Amino acid sequence: MIAHLCCSVDAGYFLKRLKEDFPDEKIIGFFYDPNIHPYSEFKLRSLDTKRICEKLGINYVEGDYNYEAWLRAVKGKENEPEKGSRCSICFDFSLEEAARFAKEKGDNKVTTSLLMSPMKSHEQLESIGKVIKRKYGVKFIAVDYRKKGGTQAQQEFAKENQMYRQDYCGCLYGIWQQKENQEIIDELISPYPFFILPASIEERLEFYENRLKLEDENIKYKIIKENFLNYRLLKSKITSKKTVINHYTLFYSYIDRPQRVRIETKKDDIGYGNRAQVIFVKLGKINALLNKTYKNIKDIYINPLKLEEELMVRKKITKTKYSLSPVIILEEFEDIRYDIEIEAKIYPDNREILIKF
Ligand code: SF4
Repeated sequence: MIAHLCCSVDAGYFLKRLKEDFPDEKIIGFFYDPNIHPYSEFKLRSLDTKRICEKLGINYVEGDYNYEAWLRAVKGKENEPEKGSRCSICFDFSLEEAARFAKEKGDNKVTTSLLMSPMKSHEQLESIGKVIKRKYGVKFIAVDYRKKGGTQAQQEFAKENQMYRQDYCGCLYGIWQQKENQEIIDELISPYPFFILPASIEERLEFYENRLKLEDENIKYKIIKENFLNYRLLKSKITSKKTVINHYTLFYSYIDRPQRVRIETKKDDIGYGNRAQVIFVKLGKINALLNKTYKNIKDIYINPLKLEEELMVRKKITKTKYSLSPVIILEEFEDIRYDIEIEAKIYPDNREILIKF
């Protein structure tokens, strides 16, 4: 039997029950989620679903991230609410692929962990099941494990196994609706490559990969959450007489409105602006402080600093532990007025941390 899998929380308890109810079936877990945005979230959900399959002794296959085809399939349905026609197409898309996969493997039964999700309609899924039976001759197994305390047991199973819990269904269009009251929708922000922002999906992916390493090494751990002050830089632009100045803006740099600033005081390759507490730092100083060899500002974007390095520079340059002063790296200082526009959000957030025993 091919069990289409959407995420670890829905897959875990579902597969456990499926194994009990179909002891003679060889179940293959087929993770197929081309609807997931962004790709790092797809990898994260796949990683954790694979982990739970391995725990349950179920073979795991990760399907293609067929994102463009999925976008084409739901075209025109972008604004549909959850459980509406976009979601029906989304289920069709996944279940048809699962049915094709089953045929390819010579299997004649298909089911899906979507049946476990309280956010998904059983009626919708069952009617798609009838279509794939007609089209592919593959039987859809519509088990309902949500009944008789199943949802509660599913949550306990997820907690016991410290599974990754996403907080949105998965697609680009759903995020807008499901997170519209959030100040920052992180899933819609793409940092430049290789820079990992705190509490971002990329950080979570790294976190869950590290957790797997602990499990491989048989190290006991517990996942807990901590609160912290997060930051996202949304825009940083510096010009002088309409000429754009190459620069790099450090984490936690904040000003509440555009400012025209000139360097008033210089010391040790640090320039102190005449307003808004702006601090300019020469690239050479960064190289010296962090033992780097950046030749120009562009280099920093290609080989970004680590967040810890940015915070270290801020700490060394500013005199307060809680500094939000804009710290801007320039190749050279000039005796000009810099027009600075920084749009940034500073907000309470939380992230998961590992406690090792
Ligand atoms: S909200 Fe969820 S089910 Fe609906 S289209 Fe998006 S990913 Fe698919």
